[in-house]
Parts: sequence; structure tokens; C-alpha cells
Amino acid sequence: MAYNFDTLKIRAGYDPLQHNHAVSVPIYQTVAFEMGSTERADALFAFELEDPLYTRVSNPTVQVLEKRVAALHGVESAVAVASGMAAISYTALALAAQGGRILTSPRLYGGAVDGFPSILAELGVKYDMIENPDDSNEFERNIKDDTKAIYIETISNPLATVLDFEAIADIAHKHGIPLVVDNTAATPYLFNPFEHGADIVVYSATKALCGHGNVIAGLILEKGTFDYGSGKFPLFEKKLWFLRDRNDNPRSILESFPKTPVTGKIRAVHLNYLGAALSPFDAYLILLGIETLSERVSKQVSSALKIVEYLDNNEHVNSVSYPYAKNSKYKALADKYLPNGAGGLFSFEFNGTEEQKRKFIEAVNIFGYQANIGDAKSLIVNPAQTTHGELTYEQRDITGLTLSTIRLSIGLEDPQDLIDDLDQAFEKAFK
Ligand SMILES: *Cc1c(COP(=O)(O)O)cnc(C)c1O
Repeated sequence: MAYNFDTLKIRAGYDPLQHNHAVSVPIYQTVAFEMGSTERADALFAFELEDPLYTRVSNPTVQVLEKRVAALHGVESAVAVASGMAAISYTALALAAQGGRILTSPRLYGGAVDGFPSILAELGVKYDMIENPDDSNEFERNIKDDTKAIYIETISNPLATVLDFEAIADIAHKHGIPLVVDNTAATPYLFNPFEHGADIVVYSATKALCGHGNVIAGLILEKGTFDYGSGKFPLFEKKLWFLRDRNDNPRSILESFPKTPVTGKIRAVHLNYLGAALSPFDAYLILLGIETLSERVSKQVSSALKIVEYLDNNEHVNSVSYPYAKNSKYKALADKYLPNGAGGLFSFEFNGTEEQKRKFIEAVNIFGYQANIGDAKSLIVNPAQTTHGELTYEQRDITGLTLSTIRLSIGLEDPQDLIDDLDQAFEKAFK
């Protein structure tokens, strides 16, 4: 029977009967797993079994997280890694190492904007960033012969914009390349990118999946229908000795993981040799967070709407960037793609001097001044000078970020208390 989202988030991927009837998912705090017989060892080393062997590559607690998140998206495969940045860089390396290109929107997490030209470029991944992702055709115009993927974010950070996913997915598929979506800000509760054409989805599980601001973690999910055997992805077809079968025949990634080659490769190669493994304890904390995902995110959405309305009518605010703010041009796309709401992350343009803005940020009492989002605690930040400080002035202009932009991530406190907190901070800043 196919269960609905809220049942899967509590139950999927775990059977107590297979774990000494333990009700709560056990934390398998162990490095290695007994191989038992030499025959079983042969099978494990020939990648014939899913059973864990060594915690850098797989672990039962981490596997429950992977299975649960895959079930929430209705897909075949997920790999958990030690951070969102590891999820992004492993995905980029798996698809485009040795000179491939990734085509991206400029509205990306600051670490991704900076990671592409710096370390990923050194590792042979080139990238192209279009200027105006609201025009989906701009993606098409910038696809080159060696472009291996389009990479976008669902709800962009910090300006909460929404793209036309299905149009962009169609363009990617027309050119034989996969669409990769960073779905961190939306979470699977608000948006399942696989239902709208995505082939690979990455998360910083650090944010709303965890929800409590205490774990760094990442996830990579794969739908398992994209054809990597077209000749465009030769690295997936190259025979590798370490993937040999029992008769010592080297195998390619596609032969070893025919249904899900990207996550297969990330586990067998990137996790194995670059090593950003998620700890079992951290996987356990993310599982706890996911149990309340819908409840948390739906409250954050309803509080965000109230706070957006308050800011929209505030003389010290020039504009609010949120799909349901006054004059937003993203409302229709949000209505289409985000029927459960547009999340708890948004920004506004402060209408005052630099000094007044700084006073305002320092005057809030409830909001934390931190580089994080999706927490149970509400957060405030001046992104151009902090979280998005890596952007060049030109990139900042392209993304629409200014020195007056203030980003809020709405938590689970009482929304009226949050509005009162902002109100008293405006009063102090403009006194
Ligand atoms: C935070 C974040 C990341 C990076 O995740 P870490 O877990 O901090 O490495 C990537 N993408 C988005 C959208 C994020 O918000």
C-alpha cells in the first residue's frame, strides 16, 4: 500500500523486527561489520549486497535515513553525506568532472556560487551562470556541447524566487542532460522536484530537514530514469578495476549501478575515496527532525505570511521578496508548484541608512543573528555582508541582492511575538 507523506516521514525505511524490536531507530556506532564467511566477503566486495561493510560507505542508521528520504520523494535511491556542500560538490563531480560544464542560475546558495569557480573549477568542473533565470529560454541559449547538467534551487536563498521547473526540465531533457535541483529551502513537504522533471535532488539536511540547528548533513537523491549511456557521459562507461565482478572483469559505473548510476557512483567513488561520510548519530538526529517536518514547515509558512504582511505595510521597508508579498512576480509560479506554501525564508529591503540597518539587526531580541536557515528558532541576517559575502559586486547585482537586503528565516515562536520584536527594533533603529 502506498502511504501518504506524513506516514512515510515517521515509518518509511525502518522495520523494528530487523533491529531487536527497537522502537526508536538504533544508532549503530560502529566502524565495520563482520563479514561472516569468505563467500559473503566476496559478495560484499563485488557490490552484490546492500549490507553495510564499513561506515564510510554505509551504515544501518544512515541507511534508514536514506530509505526514508527516498520514500518521501517516491524514488529509488538516496545517499547521505556529511554536509550540503558535500552533496553539491559530489553531484557536480559525478556529472561533470574532467572538463564538463554545469549550467546554473545565479540565484544560488553563497557556498555554491563560490564553490563552482574555486575548488570545483580546480577539479575540472566548468560552469556557466545565466543572468536571468526567469526567462527559461536563457538556459537553452547557454547549453554547450560539453554541458552535463542544469543546476537550480527550488526557492532561492535569500530572495525566495521560484523558477518554472517544468520548462527548465524540458530544456535539459531535450539536450540529453539531467536537471539537478537543490531543494533545501522548500523541503520535500512543500515540493517534490521529481514530480516536475528533476533527475537529481540535493539537500542541505542541516536546515529544515534537521530543523533544530544542531547537525550538519547532506543528501543526494536520484530518480533512476535518466539515460547516462548516450555517449555524453563517458566517465559512466569507463571500466574500473575496483568495480570488477567475481571473475575479475572490470565493470563500468553503468554496468554496476544500471538503475541509479549517479548515486551509485557517489557512494562507490566519492564517499569511498573523498570520504565525507555522515555519522550514525547525526543521521539519527535528522531522522528525529523529519518526524515533525510537515508540522514545523506548515507553521513556518503560516507565520511567514503574517510577518510578510506586517513588513509589506511598514514605512521602513521598501519591498518584500516573497512569492506572496505585495507586487511579487512569482505568485503564479508559487501557486502552480508550491500549493502547501512558499516556505519560511524571505528577504526585505530595509528603507534606511547603513547605520540604521545595523542598529535594527542589533536591536532584535528573539531573532538570532546567524548564518543558518530552517531552524526552530527565527533568524535574521544581512546576507550581502555575511552569508552571501562571497558574491562579487557584479554577481550581487545579477542576483538582486543589495546592502539593504535583510533575510529572515521564520522559526516556531509565536508569530505575534516575532512581529512585536521587529516592531520594537524598527523603533529603536529610527529613534
Ligand atoms: C546551507 C545550504 C547549503 C550548504 O549546506 P551545508 O549543510 O551547510 O554544507 C546548500 N544549499 C542551500 C540552499 C543551503 O541553504
